[in-house]
Amino acid sequence: MNQQGTVAADGPHRSKIPVTLIGGFLGAGKTTLLNHILSGEHGIRAAVLVNDFGAINIDAKLIVGVEGDTVNLANGCVCCTIRDDLIGACLGLLQRPERPEHLFVEMSGVSDPVPVLNTFLETQLALVFAVNSILLVVDAEQLPRLKGDMAHLARSQLGAADIVVLNKVDLVSPDELNHVKNLVQMVTPGSRIIEVVQGQLPLELVFVGGSDAPPPERREDARKREATAHDEAHSHDHVFGTWNWTSDRALSLPKLRSTLEQLPETVYRCKGVVQIEELPRYRYVLQMVGRRYHLEESGFWGTAMPRSEIVLIGGRAGIDPDKLHSAFDACIGIGDESQSPVLRLTRLLAADMPGD
Ligand SMILES: [Zn+2]
Repeated sequence: MNQQGTVAADGPHRSKIPVTLIGGFLGAGKTTLLNHILSGEHGIRAAVLVNDFGAINIDAKLIVGVEGDTVNLANGCVCCTIRDDLIGACLGLLQRPERPEHLFVEMSGVSDPVPVLNTFLETQLALVFAVNSILLVVDAEQLPRLKGDMAHLARSQLGAADIVVLNKVDLVSPDELNHVKNLVQMVTPGSRIIEVVQGQLPLELVFVGGSDAPPPERREDARKREATAHDEAHSHDHVFGTWNWTSDRALSLPKLRSTLEQLPETVYRCKGVVQIEELPRYRYVLQMVGRRYHLEESGFWGTAMPRSEIVLIGGRAGIDPDKLHSAFDACIGIGDESQSPVLRLTRLLAADMPGD
């Protein structure tokens, strides 16, 4: 009998903390989905573990509403290089005065969900936690365009999905939508695909009444897949590279735009929190997937020291740290209004804008 069967038959399974694993390729929209779930009206005490491949955990800064309950797992990937950190963080949650009622694990964009699942099934975590679903977020526009190793990784992630959350369906034509759905069905025949915009997944799909047992046959498949993949000394470090940059000085908006537009094609994902000299009081969040980027205002800096932090993930061969460094250093603004009539004018206009 497999482990899952034993536990389910014994009954104590009922009191285990249900776990939702959220996976998906770089930039698919995992944090947006998680924020949508956490801000819903469910009254459940949720704990969140966020894994970022890069050294700075930008995603963790963008999670809303669970202050103090978000644990960062940065500088590695939970499916391979920092598996032990995942176990430690989960056990750490149990030391808290109030035990979480549901745990969400946002995996890094390069994680394979299967080894993460197995960490929950095959270690001491199995005594306390029960994975009840693996949500795999797919960017409807991005998936068919990925090539080579990236396409391979994104498709292999799909194999572990309980639910495929097909995100950003508003960005594709009906033909493209059919195409990406066929692609998903080809990779994982019979998978449940939910089409969403901005991660707006119905919450009933997430909180399915306690720690419902996962479909055992799928878990068994997953275990077998893992067994065959084990010898490869699996890690993504040889395929992906990550690079980060920080600065205490404000950035010039036009210069930042121009740098982002000229990033090499091998950069798949860029995200960060930035300070813009034209609008110095606002904190801006930068999100870039492929060639598409946007900057969104996210409150005031207030008493916090303004600081720009940017993380970028790409094919290892495509990351040239020196070039990137000078490209982003070139974004630093003039900082001095007396030297720049344009800066003086834009700040003046910004100060008149309503909404502060
Ligand atoms: Zn990994």
